[in-house]
Amino acid sequence: MGGWAIAVHGGAGVDPNLPKERQEEAKRLLTRCLDIGISSLRSNLPAIDVVELVNWKPIPRGSALPENGTVEMEASIMDGPRRRCGAVSGLTTVKNPVSLARLVMEQSPHSYLGFSGAEEFAKKQGVEMVDNEYFITQDNVEMLKLAKVANSILLSTVQFDYRIPTVGTCGAGAAMDSPLQMNGLPISVYAPETVGCVVVDKDGRCAAATSTGGLMNKMIGRIGDSPLIGSGTYASELCGVSCTGEGEAIIQRVETA
Ligand code: ASP
Repeated sequence: MGGWAIAVHGGAGVDPNLPKERQEEAKRLLTRCLDIGISSLRSNLPAIDVVELVNWKPIPRGSALPENGTVEMEASIMDGPRRRCGAVSGLTTVKNPVSLARLVMEQSPHSYLGFSGAEEFAKKQGVEMVDNEYFITQDNVEMLKLAKVANSILLSTVQFDYRIPTVGTCGAGAAMDSPLQMNGLPISVYAPETVGCVVVDKDGRCAAATSTGGLMNKMIGRIGDSPLIGSGTYASELCGVSCTGEGEAIIQRVETA
């Protein structure tokens, strides 16, 4: 028996281009995640329960929107000492994707289910499901419009490569000095609804979980790093990992130790 530890991240949605209010909102969300994690650890919940709770409890309604304006969410969870994991992709109506990932781990013979199969499994498991519209917020609809105007999926391409017709051009570094805005909204192609958490509980068990809507304006069917065990999420008896950032870059840089 020993001490415990927790680390959380709030996804790639929080970048220096966002206005103060959104950055504050993101900090509040992360603090809530941390509070929930800490009180769960103090109540002696095992690491795997804590990472699940942190990933679904405090998350506001909303998700990054793919190019067609609907929602496709994904998540994964891994129990380090048992080396068991579960992942889901392409969810459109499941309210808490990380809990479904845990059910895949515990109630299915598989590690990863996607799209209609994952939704079917969710129905059979009786998890809470909502209309796809539930996840579509006005704020994110506006963000999607901006991403489309910028013809961009990744933040780096907005900052460095693309020309934004109605606000002029931007070069490297310009976005950091003076945030690019359109109709009063910052040009950021991430939505701040990603959450990741790594925990070591007092018995030394490590677990990790990550959930996300992915990137704004992503292609339908795009799968990022977050549900990929060994890329966006991993846990063993030695360490835990939950990544955030451009999934494509993370996937391409996975290296063996
Ligand atoms: N890594 C996530 C993705 O590419 C985004 C995030 O970290 O917020 O789907």
